[in-house]
Amino acid sequence: MPAYEYTCKDCKKEFTVFLSISEFEKKPKIVCIHCQSDNVERKITSFFAKTSRKS
Ligand SMILES: [Zn+2]
Repeated sequence: MPAYEYTCKDCKKEFTVFLSISEFEKKPKIVCIHCQSDNVERKITSFFAKTSRKS
C-alpha cells in the first residue's frame, strides 16, 4: 500500500497517510494528524518518482 507524505502548512509538521490507490483516487479529504487542519500539502515521494517515468 503506497504511503503519501504530507506537510501541514498550519503546524509545519510532516505526516504519512497510507491509502490504496483506489482510495486515493477518490480524493479523500486529508487532515493533519497533529492539528486536524486540512491545510496540507502533499510531498513528492520516491514512490511517485519511481513509477512516473517519462517515455
Ligand atoms: Zn497540522
